Amino acid sequence: MAEIIKKQPKVAYFCMEYGLSHELPIYAGGLGVLAGDFLKAAHDLNLPVVGIGILWRQDYTEQFIGEDGRPYDLYPDYDYSNIKDTGKTVTVRIRGEDVICKIRLVDQYANAPLYLLDTNYPGSPHGWITNRLYGGTAQDRIAQEMVLGIGGIRALKALGIEVDVYHFNEGHAVFAGIELIREKMHGQHMSFVDAWQETRRQVCFTTHTPVAAGNESHDHGLLQHMEAYNGLNHEQMSRLGGDPFNMTAAALRLSTVANAVSKLHGQTARSMWKEVRDAAPIISITNGVHTPTWQADDIKEAFERGEDLWEPHMRHKKELLAYIKEQTGNELNPDALLVGFARRAAAYKRSDLIFRNAEVIEPLLKEGKIQLVFSGKAHPRDTLGKEIITDLVKMDRKYSNSVVFLENYNMNIARLLVRGSDVWLNNPKRPLEASGTSGMKAAMNGVLNVSVVDGWVAEGCQHGVSGWLICTVCKEPLTDINEDELDVQNLYRVLFDEVIPTYYNNREKWLEMMRASIDMSHYQFSAQRMIREYYELLYNRTYREQEKKNREPAMV
Ligand SMILES: *Cc1c(COP(=O)(O)O)cnc(C)c1O
Repeated sequence: MAEIIKKQPKVAYFCMEYGLSHELPIYAGGLGVLAGDFLKAAHDLNLPVVGIGILWRQDYTEQFIGEDGRPYDLYPDYDYSNIKDTGKTVTVRIRGEDVICKIRLVDQYANAPLYLLDTNYPGSPHGWITNRLYGGTAQDRIAQEMVLGIGGIRALKALGIEVDVYHFNEGHAVFAGIELIREKMHGQHMSFVDAWQETRRQVCFTTHTPVAAGNESHDHGLLQHMEAYNGLNHEQMSRLGGDPFNMTAAALRLSTVANAVSKLHGQTARSMWKEVRDAAPIISITNGVHTPTWQADDIKEAFERGEDLWEPHMRHKKELLAYIKEQTGNELNPDALLVGFARRAAAYKRSDLIFRNAEVIEPLLKEGKIQLVFSGKAHPRDTLGKEIITDLVKMDRKYSNSVVFLENYNMNIARLLVRGSDVWLNNPKRPLEASGTSGMKAAMNGVLNVSVVDGWVAEGCQHGVSGWLICTVCKEPLTDINEDELDVQNLYRVLFDEVIPTYYNNREKWLEMMRASIDMSHYQFSAQRMIREYYELLYNRTYREQEKKNREPAMV
């Protein structure tokens, strides 16, 4: 029998945003931080990966709170002169013009370099394209996605990087698939169908968005106007993405295999996309976070040596309280329970759920028995999200010794919060949190999760052992109104009956739970585990399709 030669396929990973560090602000939230953690884990494990992204000149938004208590947005131009220029460029035809993209390089992760496309350089007439992450009109968005997808494939070629498998992290990168098809049709004179099938054997895809409206689709007329068809015709584009052109549906039809980001999200995603004919199967690979970035060294050491966790925990808590004092003037009590909550201010995340029944929660806040620290940005055009922040700021002003809102959420603030809080609260509407990753970061620092059963939590936390679950069992279908009410009652029950008594009266049990939380999370929810599964279940499987094809006898 012929020996199958095993090699580690070389992967090009496409993502609209990357959260590598606070110093390179080209991310908006969870998707970007995941992509950053992915590259770091690839670096640690010496895997042959290359990242493709965009150098966003003005970030997503810098969001501060005004005197009036409302969030406002600033868009400073960042100085990226320290980011290498490869000297190479690629050209993408967009709306009747040749757009020249510079290829910049972040090479800090050696075997896992990140190439960033940039149209916003002195003298460029197309600076608008890579100006602002998730900003602008539908036309802007399509242009950005063309730079990422079409420009990304051309950049790999210009750099002479050979790729075995292309990984689209979210649907934004789907025009890369169109470019791979175009190359085969024009360069190798393949038919559309052959080029499509051949491309499929090179692509895999991760879907992140369990809400239909969050999955982008575009009007065909607009795509044509932008020249996103890239040499394909209306019938071919419709076969891939439907009408209107759905980026997720197209990505599913362009890949060998796709994954959702937790087991529960896998169920949701499979039922969401079951109508898409010809779609790749959707498996589940649960997200993970880069342990060396998110787990404090002294916590890791104390855990491994079986030493006391309270001392390093208190050190991080005091560091957080010092930051809060410096930023807001609020002085919190290091000996009182501290609950952290930092999320994008999207309505479904329900940051303000805990305040729902004022007569229950406010006495605790007055007494200082429970302290709440919030952070999070709203999308600049999300008025509802901004209302939520305004309400949180009102609570901060009313209870300045027990409620805090930290403005301009970023990776630095996240780092302080996920190691300095006692408890990490997570209460989104279900099943809308695909995975969630901030709770993983908290868990591996011994910060105990109090969470509804959604996303990663369903696979991780054990109630009363490594965290607490807010379980709402309801015979009737949950409606918007009763879901909030039932969840908040259960949240209060867990807080009053379990979290508060354990924190104040049973330090030993608390420490045991911290230990169980770290034990449960530090490998299972690491990016190192995640990327190993990517190789096993996505990349090798996609690559095997190419090997299979190559072993088929040639058609005569
Ligand atoms: C981890 C992280 C996120 C994602 O958190 P979720 O729990 O998935 O919402 C968002 N923003 C920053 C800055 C993070 O560090």
